[in-house]
Amino acid sequence: RQEQFRALRGVEPITRDGSRIKLQMNAGLMVDLPQLDESGAEGIGLFRTELQFMIASTMPRMEEQEAFYRNVLKQAAGKPVTFRTLDIGGDKVVPYFRAAEEENPALGWRAIRLSLDRPGLLRTQLRAMLRASAGQELRIMLPMVTEVFELKAVRELLQKEIQRQSKVGEQLPRKLQFGAMLEVPALLYQLDELMSEVDFVSVGSNDLFQFTMAVDRGNSRVSDRFDVLSRPFLRMLRDIVRAGERNTTSVTLCGEMASKPLSALALLAIGFRSLSMSPTAVGPVKAMLLATDLARLSPELNALLDDTKGTRTPRELLKAFAAEN
Ligand code: PEP
Ligand code: MG
Repeated sequence: RQEQFRALRGVEPITRDGSRIKLQMNAGLMVDLPQLDESGAEGIGLFRTELQFMIASTMPRMEEQEAFYRNVLKQAAGKPVTFRTLDIGGDKVVPYFRAAEEENPALGWRAIRLSLDRPGLLRTQLRAMLRASAGQELRIMLPMVTEVFELKAVRELLQKEIQRQSKVGEQLPRKLQFGAMLEVPALLYQLDELMSEVDFVSVGSNDLFQFTMAVDRGNSRVSDRFDVLSRPFLRMLRDIVRAGERNTTSVTLCGEMASKPLSALALLAIGFRSLSMSPTAVGPVKAMLLATDLARLSPELNALLDDTKGTRTPRELLKAFAAEN
């Protein structure tokens, strides 16, 4: 099967009924980069920059960050890379950056919250990204956004860094795309404001599921209890896709859900046209979608999600559909 997936590398991801799907991969270290070619992914939809920090014994300096991003872009050879700013805190521990003990680290001082409280850290990272992408496209994405004002605050810092770069005569990126991760349910009640502030949105379904279902993503005692393919969660994801259509904002999903063919099938059926997944999932997900007639599945799944009295689960429907295919 591995061979079979490899053979699909160069095949364009189009469903049987003609929907073009964008398949990208997630990455975080240089060792991931060769997978871009091997998997046939169109780009890196999520680059987890915290990995460089997590494997270092001291805080990487601006020059080291810049060199790293430059190398990533070079290896990506023109395929787009979406750099996510530091997502530390929560379950991602950076040994030399010890915050105070927290009772609820997942709900604590992490990701964009920490970056906004340590603007020097964030500005250094933004500067490294700007410098590494001189003359190229730079795609920046912010993790764990809760309120739209956080985006505006980061944009101001970014603007300052851009001005600084041009003042010292440095070449700027050719194009800048600014996006947010949608991982906190509060953002669902700010979808239109959010989408008017950003160029793209990427759903972090691991965290969004954790916060929506009140289930610790690292605790299998409870994390296996609820289904990502349940009505409430799929309805939520569908609302996000619809907001994207309404606002003509591009929406991707980069959580683990995208890596499993059955849940990827559900995502396509509710309207997603762009997914970012672990590199080894690109082949299996592509094989699934090439064989899929979405026009047959979508109305049925959507009706099931709207049916308040239904007893059949979305998972049952999806499994039956996949078995027939
Ligand atoms: C997510 O939360 O779904 C996500 C992609 O980010 P991470 O897994 O790095 O928290
Ligand atoms: Mg996350």
